[in-house]
Amino acid sequence: MSADQSYSFFQNVERSFDKAAKFTKWDKGLLEQIKACNSVYRMRFPVKMDDGRIEVIEAYRVQHSQHKSPCKGGIRFSDEVNQDEVMALAALMTYKCAIVNVPFGGGKGGIKINPRNYSAYELEKITRRYTAELVKKNFIGPGIDVPAPDYGTGEREMSWIVDTYSSLKPGEIDSAGCVTGKPISQGGVRGRKGATGLGVFYGIREVCNMPDMMKKLGLTTGIEGKTVVVQGLGNVGYHSAKFFREGGATVVAIAEYEGAIYKADGINEEELFQHRKATGSILNFHGATNLAKNTDALELECDILIPAALENVINGENAPRVKAKIIGEAANGPLTPEADAVFIEKGILVVPDMYLNAGGVTVSYFEWLKNLSHVRYGRMEKRFDENQNAKILAQLESLTGKKVTEKERLNIMHGADEVDLVHSGLEETMISATNEIMEIWKSNPEIPDMRTAAYVNAINKVATSYAELGIFP
Ligand code: NAD
Repeated sequence: MSADQSYSFFQNVERSFDKAAKFTKWDKGLLEQIKACNSVYRMRFPVKMDDGRIEVIEAYRVQHSQHKSPCKGGIRFSDEVNQDEVMALAALMTYKCAIVNVPFGGGKGGIKINPRNYSAYELEKITRRYTAELVKKNFIGPGIDVPAPDYGTGEREMSWIVDTYSSLKPGEIDSAGCVTGKPISQGGVRGRKGATGLGVFYGIREVCNMPDMMKKLGLTTGIEGKTVVVQGLGNVGYHSAKFFREGGATVVAIAEYEGAIYKADGINEEELFQHRKATGSILNFHGATNLAKNTDALELECDILIPAALENVINGENAPRVKAKIIGEAANGPLTPEADAVFIEKGILVVPDMYLNAGGVTVSYFEWLKNLSHVRYGRMEKRFDENQNAKILAQLESLTGKKVTEKERLNIMHGADEVDLVHSGLEETMISATNEIMEIWKSNPEIPDMRTAAYVNAINKVATSYAELGIFP
């Protein structure tokens, strides 16, 4: 897929790290420790398929850093999974958690299968067996390592994981916290499913609200009216498209693995999703033009490009043809360092993956806290707040002699539900993370791009944590 084959994904992460480490003051040995993957568990296990065949499944779980516990990171189902990829993704999780102040170490898992080639029953057996292998080696648990959805997995797989874990650990009161991204009925939190896409939107919106940054890019301030291209209509791509559209932007093109479509007046992601469900493809969507190749979408004229599918899709070969002004890395590792170099040269702003797609892990953190506290967000205060608001409103109405409309009354009285609190926590997290990174970037004119500034921020936080542990006298 990549034109920059000389470096692996993990090596690319290391190269970005090294580029940023030069702007920090930390000891070389400490930097080496932060970079290293602490534990790699590579497993093989047999699963009997529907036709009676036995297939040997290859799978991984990597714990990149335990400077905070538990480790945290998704599980990917893809036939591209390999040890290097899982290590790279685990490392990105360490830096991502540090940037958004989520107190976890980085982890990641992967099963080398194309889920489209398996029945639901086969997938269930594979997922449950994988979980049992993790339990056997103490590689999963609310205080050890907490997986989540990633490419090719979702709520369904997470509920198989929590069910398998709980049955192997009877009586463990916090067992629901062994995995996040669960359905609500299994201990999930409202707002988790769309969290990564919403975080992408909040992060880009914050950047677009910075007048100096927009002036540099030749763009107007704000999201309203900006044109957006999205690659991938999975969880992250779908929700990114949805929140950009709802925020006033126009999603002019969407790419999937079977092709890409363009529609100048905007694509409604839900209509496209239903069209794909009915026809098996995003192509031939009403009012839209099919593009010759799915990668053509990446090279369209637009303000914001959101790669939300896989890694290495923009590399040294196609980067010179990319015309977007802002690239928001919703996927993990969609740009190679060669592509980064092209964009620095061209003055295109790359908003880096390891903080931009941190919405998922941020809300996973909220889900984990909910599981440990065994109480839904908002349960204790919602009614109290509504009663207080009603009293304040009644006072105001009696003092002014005026009445608000019924709709306004409901709006003013509304006490926060779980989803309101989750979205508010996510918005706060993404706004603070954006501003922290921008401050670092502005403070040192030698820092070439936002990715390096984000790494500097991550390295400083992880190094401080190690240093404060006192294990490096
Ligand atoms: P997903 O499986 O729900 O969706 C991925 C989509 O990309 C699929 O619809 C797939 O068909 C499509 N795709 C595959 N190859 C493509 C190609 N060549 N061109 C266009 N589309 C293609 O996965 P997801 O959870 O949305 O994850 C997408 C990316 O976001 C991954 O890099 C993942 O690591 C990252 N990410 C996900 C989360 C999360 O919460 N799910 C959080 C952080 C980062």
